[in-house]
Amino acid sequence: MKNIEALIRPNILALEPYSTARDDFKGEASVFIDANENPWNNGYNRYPDPRQRRLKDAVANLENIKVENLFLGNGSDEAIDVLMRIFCRPGVDNIIVQAPSYGMYKVSAAINDIEVRPVLLDDDFGLDVEDVFSRVDENTRIIMLCSPNNPTGRSVPIEDIRLIAERFDGIVVVDEAYIHFSEEPSAITLIDDLENLVVLRTLSKARGLAGMRVGMAVASPLIVDYMSRVKYPYNISQATIDKALEFIGSNTDYDRQIAVIIEERKKLKDRLSGLKSVEKIYPSDANFLLVKVDDANRMYDYLAERGIVVRNRTTQPRCHNCLRITIGTPEENEQLVKTLLSYEKETADN
Ligand SMILES: *Cc1c(COP(=O)(O)O)cnc(C)c1O
Repeated sequence: MKNIEALIRPNILALEPYSTARDDFKGEASVFIDANENPWNNGYNRYPDPRQRRLKDAVANLENIKVENLFLGNGSDEAIDVLMRIFCRPGVDNIIVQAPSYGMYKVSAAINDIEVRPVLLDDDFGLDVEDVFSRVDENTRIIMLCSPNNPTGRSVPIEDIRLIAERFDGIVVVDEAYIHFSEEPSAITLIDDLENLVVLRTLSKARGLAGMRVGMAVASPLIVDYMSRVKYPYNISQATIDKALEFIGSNTDYDRQIAVIIEERKKLKDRLSGLKSVEKIYPSDANFLLVKVDDANRMYDYLAERGIVVRNRTTQPRCHNCLRITIGTPEENEQLVKTLLSYEKETADN
């Protein structure tokens, strides 16, 4: 057993969380004059449920998670920040991230004055477990793994995740924003065995609700409890709760959309690999392809001038001349290929 409480910052252990008006009262009532709200009902005059019980039930059911293991945040970006604030002492502790990986880990760490130790991935974006542990010292509190990784599309094998979590005395976070597009097993299956494991998910990608800002952390009830104490009491608005419930309740189309995206990923990969300007397409378990091209800046500009925006990753570690291309609708993917064919024609003429 790992002692998770020994990893929590003393001020967080000692924290007396904000007690909302509705937390203090338990029972049935019809007159609510406890929270200084406007009394006339317009649908939003009341503060939302700080424990988000209805939305948690729906999200837990959607993602096949137990409610007691679920934290909801204003995007998974909030969960990343809350985890750093719980486990990392500013100016003292450090975290380990893959390089390249999702940019928010670094930003959140910088805001919290936490040192970031990047572990460079190999040429094919694989992670070496020994490299990870060579960077760990007594102040390493979090190992951030993104699987499938953004921007590489490659997953960390679940056996490596288990090995890292068993061996490491801090917290291992596995960001599964893209897991729905992958055939690899989810690290959520390890939660009950590994008390230092936290898995992040989001409604922003496969679930089609990036504008809604709902992300989640899946972890032991102990970690979920500390995350709930540290978050803003009303981090998910009533408008978000209502709309998210409506979408989750009515959208039975997720499986089909995911299947189409996976099919389109394969098709787009085949089409792009026939292009002369494309040097390499990395295997992807996500809803994007990382593509090495002849000249990423030139291709980026060419596409942008024609109204097609991709993500230029050329300055990222091991990503020289790489573009990250999200799988769009079949029509959008076709438009991309056509535009790249004209790019090749025009650049060949010059
Ligand atoms: C898009 C993305 C997220 C999603 O963040 P939200 O705040 O939930 O929208 C999280 N992690 C990674 C790696 C991502 O690419």
